[in-house]
Parts: sequence; structure tokens; C-alpha cells
Amino acid sequence: MTNPQDFDVLIVGSGLAGLTAALQLAPTHKVAVLTKRRLSDGSSGWAQGGIAAVMDPADAFDNHVQDTLVAGVGLCDLEATQKVVEHAPTAIRWLQDLGVPFSTEHGELHLTREGGHSHRRIVHATDATGAAVQATLIERVKATPNIHVFEHHMLVDLITDRRMASGLPRPGQPVHCQGVYALDEVRDVVVTFRAPHTILATGGAGKVYLYTTNPDTATGDGIAAAWRAGCRVANMEFIQFHPTCLYHPHAKSFLISEAVRGEGGKLLLPPEAGGGRFMPAHDPREELAPRDVVARAIDFEMKKHGVDCVYLDISHQSPQFLEEHFPNIKARCAELGIDITRQPIPVVPAAHYTCGGVVTDLDGRTDIGGLYAVGETTCTGLHGANRLASNSLLECMVFASATVDAIRTTPLTSSSTLPPWDDSRVTDADELVVIQHNWHELRRFMWDYVGIVRTTKRLERAAHRISLLQKEIHEFYAQFHVTRDLLELRNLVQVADLIVMSALLRRESRGLHYSRDYPNTHALAKPTVLVPPPR
Ligand SMILES: Cc1cc2nc3c(=O)[nH]c(=O)nc-3n(C[C@H](O)[C@H](O)[C@H](O)COP(=O)(O)OP(=O)(O)OC[C@H]3O[C@@H](n4cnc5c(N)ncnc54)[C@H](O)[C@@H]3O)c2cc1C
Repeated sequence: MTNPQDFDVLIVGSGLAGLTAALQLAPTHKVAVLTKRRLSDGSSGWAQGGIAAVMDPADAFDNHVQDTLVAGVGLCDLEATQKVVEHAPTAIRWLQDLGVPFSTEHGELHLTREGGHSHRRIVHATDATGAAVQATLIERVKATPNIHVFEHHMLVDLITDRRMASGLPRPGQPVHCQGVYALDEVRDVVVTFRAPHTILATGGAGKVYLYTTNPDTATGDGIAAAWRAGCRVANMEFIQFHPTCLYHPHAKSFLISEAVRGEGGKLLLPPEAGGGRFMPAHDPREELAPRDVVARAIDFEMKKHGVDCVYLDISHQSPQFLEEHFPNIKARCAELGIDITRQPIPVVPAAHYTCGGVVTDLDGRTDIGGLYAVGETTCTGLHGANRLASNSLLECMVFASATVDAIRTTPLTSSSTLPPWDDSRVTDADELVVIQHNWHELRRFMWDYVGIVRTTKRLERAAHRISLLQKEIHEFYAQFHVTRDLLELRNLVQVADLIVMSALLRRESRGLHYSRDYPNTHALAKPTVLVPPPR
């Protein structure tokens, strides 16, 4: 066995959550950032709309808290919500100090408004906020000697006392995370990293669905690894479907920001279905209704009229306004032959955000000692049954800072020995085709059976298929040389299982979970908390 690499803190993931934690820890800790592709890959760089924060004197923390609670339909944790909202201005100022080029007007931050927000409070960098934020953070990370970046290193599993050769913890004894195994894809070997603190910042799991706005990295790896290691996972039934993903054979996962509806964009049926507006018939807030309402309305209209997409029309705005506010969307559509100054944009709903995840406290702590989780991979209680637009980048930063504080005040030492990775596995050429088939099958049936509108029968069908896939993948994992595809499939199937288990347990419709068998909302609101079986 090669000697493990030693650090004070391991951070898995290089999105906004991971990089915020890395930069804030670097003055005092030797940090490793492991990321499975390049530093810039992940959802954070794709965020268009912006970051919600009360920055206008006419707005107030209470308004932002209320809007978040309303969107979350009774399941938000009040303390977590208040914490995030109240720390938002500090988080924005931190980014400004780092040099993020936010859009301004008359020397002040320009604030836009999105669905579900009662005030203009979205801080943005035109329509490519995430790219601007990530570019700035990455530049800083590269210039910080205490941060050691490992690109193309994929988390395989967490190493806890439970796995340690030196003996299992006795029942009731706290379990600690001592490091991770990671697949170094360049050398094609599994390497061991050791640290007393590990932060999971691996993002969401949109890739579990056939249609998603998420990048290829969003395979729920952190959620699956934490569950396998013994952490509770909550609210996995609440998957947010973004109502407006560009519908075009050559556009993969391109999102048409909510800000387009915020600036007066109207949803229209295709000409063959009459061409008129339909949102007024679904909700008094029309196009500014929360995402789940708009996504369900589009799903309903598409199924009713048997059409492949609907249209989003922003052509009432001047070309200059569109160039100024939506340069990215305008350019991408133009590449595909759609002139948004004159034509409506074809759109469909797609899996967008994983509201549930690894259960953490208000300082990012999980159920395992020395293991923290931050960002979309978590369930902090902020989003409840539905996420308010632009609250997630904010959550990444506020909880990353809280986690950094927790690590600073919790001195821990590394374990002296870690169990070696078993590399007796073999390579099998047949494996590839089976893995690809299973990937496709999983994403297809998750879309068909566990999508925007659910029924118990379809969920049970999905559960049955998942259990078959799990058996097959378990065998593969035990016998064959690990590859990224195999590891991602193993994690996606685990996450699919958690989503279906949670959806079956929720015998009502609430927020993002809509069941035809249980269309009503119960008076009693409770999160769905799954506890891993003892291993
Ligand atoms: C198209 C789009 C637009 C959005 N717009 C907005 C918006 O305007 N405002 C807003 O607030 N939110 C928005 N969101 C949501 C927001 O971008 C995400 O919730 C947020 O960026 C998540 O950040 P993160 O750091 O948790 O994860 P990510 O940014 O996804 O980063 C996860 C990181 O973990 C790495 N990783 C994953 N698995 C492994 C593994 N096994 N080993 C090593 N590394 C791993 C990935 O490569 C990546 O570096 C948008 C999302 C999308 C997809």
C-alpha cells in the first residue's frame, strides 16, 4: 500500500461550497480539494440567475425568511432559514471583496427579481453569475499555497472507524471519518487520503433523471457515500424540476433562467395547440408562481395537448435590454437559430435541484464525527419541500463558513493507520456495455415513474427495478476494477433508491412531491428522515 496523503482537511468537490470552505480554511489549515473532473466543473459555474440577499433598504430579512418558508410549504427549518438569510449580505460582501464582477446600476448592486420572491433581491453578474463567481474563486484557490488541488480524483468511499482494521467501534460509540479512498483517473489507481476533518461538497443528483439541467458531475456521490458510511439522509422526494430548459436536439441541459419570467417573459402553447398563454388558468401568480407550480402546469399542458415543448416569449423587451440582461441566453439561442428578440424560446421542464440530502446541523456537521457536508449535497432544513430560487448558492456560502468555524473550534487528530484499498479486482470488457445499459435504464424509468407527477404503483415499479440493479452493481463493484462510470452508477442507483423510499413514505402531496394517489396536503408537516440500516 502506498502511504496515504495527509492533510488537515479534505474537501471533496470544487463548486461554490467546496471552494468557499477551502479559501476560508487556508489561512489556518492545510487543505486538499479533490474534484472528479476539472476545478471548474459542477453546477456552480452554470448558475445563471444569481444569489438571493437582502441588500435593498426597502427589503427586510423577515421578507426573505417568509418567502423561503412559503416556498418550502411548512417543511423549512426556521433556525436554518434565519441563519442563511441573515448571513447573506456578509456572504455577498465576501465575494465582492474577492473581486466578483457583480452587475451594478448607478454604483449600487443591480438587484433582479425571481419567482417566489416578494422583492428584488437577486444579486447577479448579468446572466452568468455562477461562471463569474467560480472564475474568481478558482483564481484565488490557485494562488493559495495551503490549498492542494487534485483534479480527476473521484471519491470512492469514506473511511470511517467502522471500516478500520483496528476494530469496529462498540455499539453506541461515536463513529469518526478518518479519510477517503479516491480514484485517480489519470493513473487509474485508487489512492488514500487521510485527515481528521472531511467536508463533502459534491453537489446534487440531477443525473438520476433522463432530462436534467445539471452537469454530468451531478450523480449524488456524496449523498450515496455518506449513506453507506452511516449518515441519515432526508427529504429526498423533493426534486425540483426547472420549468424552462431549452428544448432543442443540439442543446444539452441549457437552462433558460427564471429571470426571463421575472422580466415579463410569458409562457405560450405551441401554435398547433392554440398558441395562447396558459399560466393564468393555473395560478393567480401566473408566470411568477413558484417553480413547482409552473413545472406542473407545463407538464399538464404538454400531456393534455400531446406536444413536445411549450414556448417562453420575452420578445416584448428591446434587443438592447435582452443583450444587457441575458447575453448568454441570447447568444446560445442564436447559435441554434432562435432569435429571442423576435421569436419565443422552446422549453421543457427538467430535473434541476436536489432539495434533500445528507442531514447536517447548523454548523455542517453530519452524524459521523469529523465528517461535514455543505451545499446541494445536504439537507440543512433551508429548502423544506421546495427551494426558493437563488437560495442555493447562498446556502453553499453560509454553511461553508459555518463549517469552517466548526472545524476551527474542534481540534482532532488523524488516525495512525488506515485500511488499504483492496486492489485485487479484475477488469472485464463486458462490464462497460452493461454499465451503460443500466445507466440509461435507470434514468429513463426514474423520469417515467418518479418524475413530476407520481403514483404509488409507478413508485413500486421503480423500487422493484432499483433492487435488481442494486444486486447487479453490487456484484460488479465487489469483483471488478472500479471506473468512474461504475462508481457513478453505483451512487445513482443508491440515490434513486433513497428518492423512491422517501416518496413512498410521504402519503400526501406537498411542494415538489405530487402524488395522484395522495393529492391532499396533511396538516402535520414532517421531513422524511431515512436512517441507514446497521451494517
Ligand atoms: C443550470 C443551473 C442554474 C442554476 N442557477 C442557480 C442560480 O441562479 N442561483 C442559485 O442559487 N442556484 C442556482 N442553481 C443551483 C446551484 O448552482 C447549485 O445548487 C450549487 O451550485 C451547488 O453547489 P455545490 O458546491 O454544492 O455543488 P457543485 O457546484 O455541483 O459542485 C460539486 C463538485 O463536486 C464534484 N464532485 C462530485 N462528485 C464527486 C466525487 N465523487 N469525487 C470528487 N468530486 C466530486 C464535482 O465535480 C463538483 O466540483 C443552478 C443550477 C443549475 C444546474
